[in-house]
Amino acid sequence: AKAAGRNTMRFFDPAIQEAALVRASLEAELRQGLARQEFVLFYQPQMNSAGNVIGLEALVRWNNPHRGMVSPADFILLAEDTGLILPLGRWVLEEACRMLVFLTANSSTRHLSVAVNVSALQFRQPDFVAVVLDVLHSSGAHPGRLKIELTESLLLEDIEGAIQKINELKKHGVRFSLDDFGTGYSSLTYLKRLPFNQIKIDQSFVHNILNDPRDLAIANTIIALGQTLHVAVIAEGVETSTQRDLLAQCGCTLFQGYFFSRPLPEAQLQDFLRRHLAA
Ligand code: C2E
Ligand code: CA
Ligand code: CA
Ligand code: CA
Repeated sequence: AKAAGRNTMRFFDPAIQEAALVRASLEAELRQGLARQEFVLFYQPQMNSAGNVIGLEALVRWNNPHRGMVSPADFILLAEDTGLILPLGRWVLEEACRMLVFLTANSSTRHLSVAVNVSALQFRQPDFVAVVLDVLHSSGAHPGRLKIELTESLLLEDIEGAIQKINELKKHGVRFSLDDFGTGYSSLTYLKRLPFNQIKIDQSFVHNILNDPRDLAIANTIIALGQTLHVAVIAEGVETSTQRDLLAQCGCTLFQGYFFSRPLPEAQLQDFLRRHLAA
């Protein structure tokens, strides 16, 4: 009776009830948004030291008729909890591959890679490898131009399975990037055991790199580690030329951030590419 009482209390807690309602309606809207194709990919350029674009990171947005452009921070977690990330994640892959095919058709952009973010639930699906290969195959995209960004948190549970999946896709040319590097609990173990092609210095280290010597030391160490392990290192969240210069002094050669460009809708991407491709 006591337990039931507690449950009843909870049920009538207006704050919790309201949160549950907001969540339920957001879930319904998400489902509908998928059916109505309200999602769009923005593309953030990734740059080399010469200031040329070398790739794009695909970042999903939800263009909701009532809410406007919704940031992934506001729906990815719910999409994961509800399993909606699976159809959404597949759509992101398809759309990114469509962009790859488009880039490949032009000789000035055919070398560019497209990176997609893959969530834990999506990566853990037994058919993850099959889905990626299927999307690559049916789109005609070059597997060697696709990059998959994973965060370390999602690899925690089944490291052997993760290694197997990564290696299987790498056999086909797909590349892997370890996202938000340095923010998890066992970054170094992952780096040692998982066959990543690239690590991304998390923007939290870049943000204060000018003022906090500890952030600079961490960024510097990650860059040196990448060089030693022959893994490419890209710094994300670069907002100023001073940050870029400092990172470059540490040996970083790849950059991404608002200093170069915000994530761009397809319509604005063309113009950016025209101005930032190697001659
Ligand atoms: P992330 O993968 O770490 O992506 C980087 C985030 O930092 C993006 O936010 C990007 O717009 C933002 N950013 C880039 N440059 C700068 C900068 O110079 N300064 C600052 N302050 N921010 C910068 P966004 O697009 O809101 O995405 C947030 C997160 O949502 C992503 O973090 C990623 O974890 C997730 N996400 C985005 N698209 C997808 C997707 O297609 N699938 C999945 N599963 N997750 C996604
Ligand atoms: Ca990412
Ligand atoms: Ca990141
Ligand atoms: Ca992140």
